[in-house]
Amino acid sequence: MGFDALLGNDALKQRLSVALSRGQLSHCYLISGPAGSGKHTLARLLASAMQCTSASRPCGQCAQCRKVWSGIHPDVITVDDPEKKGIPVKLVRDACADLYVRPNEGAKKIYLFPRAQDLNAQGQNALLKCIEEPPAYGVFLLLTEHAEQLLPTIRSRCVELRLSPLGDDLLQRELAARFPDASPDALRSAMLRSGGYLGQAIDLLREGSELLPQSKAFAEAFCTGSAGDLLRVLAPMERLKREQLRPILLQWTELLSSALASRSGLPAISPECNRIAQRRTDTQLLHAVQAVQHAISLTDANVGTAHICGMLCVRLSEA
Ligand SMILES: [Zn+2]
Repeated sequence: MGFDALLGNDALKQRLSVALSRGQLSHCYLISGPAGSGKHTLARLLASAMQCTSASRPCGQCAQCRKVWSGIHPDVITVDDPEKKGIPVKLVRDACADLYVRPNEGAKKIYLFPRAQDLNAQGQNALLKCIEEPPAYGVFLLLTEHAEQLLPTIRSRCVELRLSPLGDDLLQRELAARFPDASPDALRSAMLRSGGYLGQAIDLLREGSELLPQSKAFAEAFCTGSAGDLLRVLAPMERLKREQLRPILLQWTELLSSALASRSGLPAISPECNRIAQRRTDTQLLHAVQAVQHAISLTDANVGTAHICGMLCVRLSEA
């Protein structure tokens, strides 16, 4: 199986395969990339490559690989407390103390930090002490969406593996295979909105990346630019609660921003977006994006939804 379970990222996989075949894997990797970019997949591949007992590693078949993939390997230890916003320093200190107990059954003892950016300075300093000179079997896999939030002293001791977005063709093939019942429009929209990251595209398709009914109605009304049409969309929304209004407005911002982007040559995320781009000018779109963003900020500021919808109707009619 090698590193194939991670899609795309060919240069990175090649680099790791070479290091693995030469016995030159590092004892500390910083795996960085946005949500859904494959950080966890890569971490599991690395951990199984290090524990695997087959000739061609990682095989995905042996007992060691299987335990890593099912998350039950006693020598692959996750350092996190999902209940807490930050990672408590005590967990890091416990891991560093545990590091000196030899592995149970694996060749390595691997500490996985699923959100390394949530270590505060104290936690990072505690971690620094143990990654500086670990025993030969000690390995650290630090996963992060924001590598820049880690201390330079930590980063300089890690080999950084930065995950890249997938190419359109590869992502489209993968999504079509995973969601055989999804419409081509839904697949295309998820692909464009995901920024090329498989995990995000999957989330969008699971949530239903189709536009909300209010967003479809808004797209039509905004195309005509008629104040009456906009009022017919916005008036019923005055009865919504702020937390119901907000996701609708967020989708409107996305729709308008994408229409604006598609006017400068980028692909449109949906047919509605395409129609808006054809019917309205850059200035009108920019004005509308600002109006909707202002409305979103008002939902954070305890302003009533009737007032927000009324204001939005006026400003969008002027756009
Ligand atoms: Zn194996």
